[in-house]
Amino acid sequence: MADVTPVGRFAPTPSGRMHLGNVFAALIAWLSVRSRGGEMVLRMEDLDTQRTSTEFAEVLRQDLQWLGLSYDRETPPQSQRSGVYDQYFDRLQDMGLLYPCYCTRSQLHGVNAPHLSDGTYVYPGTCRNLTEAQRAAFDRKPAWRVIVPDKVWEVEDRVHGHYTLNLAMECGDMVVRRADGVYVYQLAVTVDDGEAGVTEVVRGMDLLSSAPRQMYLQDLFGFPHPDYGHVPMLLAPDGRRLSKRDRDLDLGELRKRVTAERLIGTLAYAGGIIDQNVPISARELAKEFTWDKLRGDSIYLDGKSLY
Ligand code: GLU
Repeated sequence: MADVTPVGRFAPTPSGRMHLGNVFAALIAWLSVRSRGGEMVLRMEDLDTQRTSTEFAEVLRQDLQWLGLSYDRETPPQSQRSGVYDQYFDRLQDMGLLYPCYCTRSQLHGVNAPHLSDGTYVYPGTCRNLTEAQRAAFDRKPAWRVIVPDKVWEVEDRVHGHYTLNLAMECGDMVVRRADGVYVYQLAVTVDDGEAGVTEVVRGMDLLSSAPRQMYLQDLFGFPHPDYGHVPMLLAPDGRRLSKRDRDLDLGELRKRVTAERLIGTLAYAGGIIDQNVPISARELAKEFTWDKLRGDSIYLDGKSLY
């Protein structure tokens, strides 16, 4: 995609303050696009309306501004787009790829449910071939699943390198709409990135296995595949993943104690982008950023060393 202006995105879930891992992923997403004169899009991923709020969304915008991570436009939050997702759902329905699934949570995750050796659950297609009479016998609303092909998806990830996944063997037919009518992340993200013209998706390594799921839906909807870069997770010195539970490392606390430049310098140094741990603005850092500088393995960071 050499001659195309890169379009990247921030896709935060407004369920709390950003922690260092979120900041790191947002920083790399921004650097990748801005170092090549591209455009950034912001989108609030608030499908889970119980856990998210417009207040957190506003704080996230302010935190991005404080960090110096600018964006050019914000697309509507996912909670307002179910009418759009309906249209894509109908297209899958027209393609004959959807079926209702009545499995309960305990059926899906019980001891006899099929799991891969790493504990990943593979849906065995239990409800795929139910008759109309069998469907009518359930007195509850179904989730809806899309049939996945027995095919290997290949991702050339900018950090991880070559990654493959066979959706039929390692995932099974995917839920696209839950029984309560809420669309799932995989469908919403594919539609939103596709409609916004996103050319590169940069996010945490924990979402690497989502890339093939989204590539499948992109193919069905006729969206091009974006480039992918799944950045390493940040770990505490004891090997724990930094998370929103580490309250002292969320931006609410950090903003009281350090400057944005100090925070960005520390993250950039830990990630291998600069050789010394010195304060630096995102804008300055963009002049030095190239993907090959970024470390590929987990990044250990003693957040407390920041203050
Ligand atoms: N909303 C997700 C998160 O906050 C990110 C999803 C994505 O980047 O595709 O973890």
